[in-house]
Amino acid sequence: MQNTNQVSAALREMAALLEFSKAPKFKVKAYRRAVEVVDTVADLAALVEHGRLEELQGIGATLSRQIEELWNTGSSQFLNRLRNEQPEGTSELIQLESMTPRRLRVLVDGLGVHSIAQLREACADERVRTLPGFGKKTEQRLLEACDRWQNRGPEVPLPTLLSKALERAALLEQELLRVSERVQLVGALRRGQETVRELAWVVLGETPEPLRQLAKLPQVLRVEVEHGRAYLSEALQLQLLPANAANWGNVVVLATGNEAHIAALRGLAAERRIAIQGWGSPASNAVLRAFATEQELYASLGLPFVPAELRRGLDESRLADFDQLVTEQDIRGMVHCHTTYSDGRSSIAEMADAAHALGMQYLTITDHSPSAHYAHGVSLDRLKQQWDEIAAVQEGSPIRILRGTESDILADGGLDYPDSVLEGFDVVIASIHARHRMDRAAMTARLVRAMSLPIFKIWGHGLGRILNHRDAIDCDVPAVLDALAGSRGAIELNSDPQRLDLPPEWIPAARERKIPFVISVDAHSTRGLAVLRYGTLMARRGGVLRAEVLNTELAERFAALVRPTQAG
Ligand SMILES: [Zn+2]
Ligand SMILES: [Zn+2]
Repeated sequence: MQNTNQVSAALREMAALLEFSKAPKFKVKAYRRAVEVVDTVADLAALVEHGRLEELQGIGATLSRQIEELWNTGSSQFLNRLRNEQPEGTSELIQLESMTPRRLRVLVDGLGVHSIAQLREACADERVRTLPGFGKKTEQRLLEACDRWQNRGPEVPLPTLLSKALERAALLEQELLRVSERVQLVGALRRGQETVRELAWVVLGETPEPLRQLAKLPQVLRVEVEHGRAYLSEALQLQLLPANAANWGNVVVLATGNEAHIAALRGLAAERRIAIQGWGSPASNAVLRAFATEQELYASLGLPFVPAELRRGLDESRLADFDQLVTEQDIRGMVHCHTTYSDGRSSIAEMADAAHALGMQYLTITDHSPSAHYAHGVSLDRLKQQWDEIAAVQEGSPIRILRGTESDILADGGLDYPDSVLEGFDVVIASIHARHRMDRAAMTARLVRAMSLPIFKIWGHGLGRILNHRDAIDCDVPAVLDALAGSRGAIELNSDPQRLDLPPEWIPAARERKIPFVISVDAHSTRGLAVLRYGTLMARRGGVLRAEVLNTELAERFAALVRPTQAG
């Protein structure tokens, strides 16, 4: 099969078919985790080749064999068997978004439908609502999902998540450096865009040789030497651009900025009668210039070096801020950590040790609140037990452990746990985990109420999006930000590669309102602490300064700033 995306698609189908066939939950979960692992591992080929798959967390002997078989043969006996065992039409039905395989099974058993067309008919005839657990609203949603599936265009593969693209890029860059003495990542990935369809580099010298080097790699699908291009999958292209030492700056800047940024630079150049070589036909009175470095090019236009994340348009009012933009090294505490008390996989002590090993001075334990049943929200008696455990771990730990919660924002905008309990936490994150589909007015009212509560809170993964899977919730974001600013709360920039939420396009609106930020990890295991980089990239894209991020502060100050009830 020799292609990671196909392996992960096959594992995803296995998980869906297992869930559909009512296999035990742990088994379904194991396959889902395998998808996650395969999607994020940098070099699956090497791991398969050296028989080292089992070193990955969550991959046991069975899964390791399945992945090896998929990689080596392109098919799986287990998957074929699963497909054959299910009722007719199952493989089609599980492609329907907005319905879990478990619920689809109820539909198949209850209505005898064997295709999406038949399911649509059942919805239209109002038969779905007669089944236990299915209401009018679900029926309507299902009908819409069937319509979307039937009207779908030719399949456009999903773009690649930033995290995965960066991991792949790091590996490929090593390969490029075997044959090119100098390379520079450019394009949307260098700008930190949340999802990308292309990895691009500028290389010193010509591109055919580096491309031939890449062609040797199993993760490269095909190479088009004449176009300077390769494909890692149909969804992910790779582009190489040649440059020499004298015009390096010209090529790199042109290939990094978005259209609006380049247009702004062109404008400044024209004012100064500079024509940048390779940027299109120069005006007759302009002097043609080549720049060896990006810095020289920017300096010639009277600009400081613009951080790559901000090369979308050009906000000249921000030029003085560039050296104050937050960096990953500024972060001193891991905020938003789950443990085995809710849906995390690591203990309090393990999380504290891992955060310390990463150079942190504190972490906040914020497990789910009781209404999050699916995530084993922490009930009041278990909360007492957790606080005792935190106290015990704290005694032997060099870093400060703050007692927190990720409290559900309920449908009416209230928070989970009574106020008296909330006030006892060191930190409260308030997030939406259910009922994402409320209409705009109701959702806005829900959030405005939650954000207006006088208790200090951090708005967790604000718009609830899951990249490539779930759109942002519909609400009046400025109104919610106004409410949060009024109650002096903070906003989380969630680093989970699938969330990256608050979306960076909303960050300037929060900054204007002087709302502070935390760059959080939302970690569900010690491994999950490694994501800080992605949230920091989003913060930088939004132009967030070090001084605007609460967890750049030392432990004492941070704890004082986020205490749920604050003096004054
Ligand atoms: Zn959450
Ligand atoms: Zn969380």
